[in-house]
Amino acid sequence: MQRLMPYIAFPLVLIGGLLLCYSLFAPLEEPALAPFVVMLCWTIPWMLLLEWWTPFRQQWSKSHGDVLTDTIYLFLIQSLWPRLLSAIWITLLASATIWFSENFNFFSGQAWPHEWPLLAQLVLALVLAEFGRYWVHRWAHEVSFLWRFHAVHHSAERLYWLNAGRFHPVEKILLHIPETVPFILLGANAEVLALYFVTTGIHGLFQHSNIRLKLGPLNYIFAMAELHRFHHSKIIRESNTNYGNNLIIWDLVFGTFYWPKDREVGDIGLLNPEYPKGFIGQLKAPFHKGKLDKPVDYASNPEKYQ
Ligand SMILES: [Zn+2]
Repeated sequence: MQRLMPYIAFPLVLIGGLLLCYSLFAPLEEPALAPFVVMLCWTIPWMLLLEWWTPFRQQWSKSHGDVLTDTIYLFLIQSLWPRLLSAIWITLLASATIWFSENFNFFSGQAWPHEWPLLAQLVLALVLAEFGRYWVHRWAHEVSFLWRFHAVHHSAERLYWLNAGRFHPVEKILLHIPETVPFILLGANAEVLALYFVTTGIHGLFQHSNIRLKLGPLNYIFAMAELHRFHHSKIIRESNTNYGNNLIIWDLVFGTFYWPKDREVGDIGLLNPEYPKGFIGQLKAPFHKGKLDKPVDYASNPEKYQ
């Protein structure tokens, strides 16, 4: 069973999570609640079990003094902050949606293909959101000012399920836009959004997990750990690849897909050993001079750092 787990763990937890979410729509009456139940009662127990049972790297199983920081990120930045942002977007876009619907038929709130099977709507939502996420993430690596905020995510010195949520709140605003605004304007329903957030939640935790995973050809669909670990490499040339959040499709299209099959990633994290490790220090880090981790001329001179 332990040999089989790397191949089946992610598909098993993802399919189980989606089915559980779907089965909760009726009893909960509020589809937006279902992803929280799935994360707490299904996904997180699986993460704890699998990281203990079949770890990718033993040294990543030990605390690096990062558990408290990552727990704060998970609750504040990944749970509370997006709910507030969604409420703000819905309020701000209410008048925009009405204006669009009066002036453009496409934005009448009926543009979303509600008649499609739910699974097909989920795939559409994933591909659509992924396009915006890809470019926000890629610019975060290529534009020095944006990298200041994104460096927080790359400050993790090991990969384990909890640091999937380590994002600066300013960057979270940018990442949240492609995951919400298109769906509000196009009128996607709450069930599709709930399934989307279950997929992105499960995928995100597996993507950063310290679980031995082997996805084989699925690595050409999902932006899973085997690819994403290279994205966290200390070698800048490697970390400026595999920007996919859930799907790897746009990396394949735009030429940033990277998968050396013959080796595992080396050291991960930032180059700056002085980078703050605590939550408050990391919130302040982007605004301090000298805390920019990546060489400032990297984007214009990448060959210098090969
Ligand atoms: Zn990144």
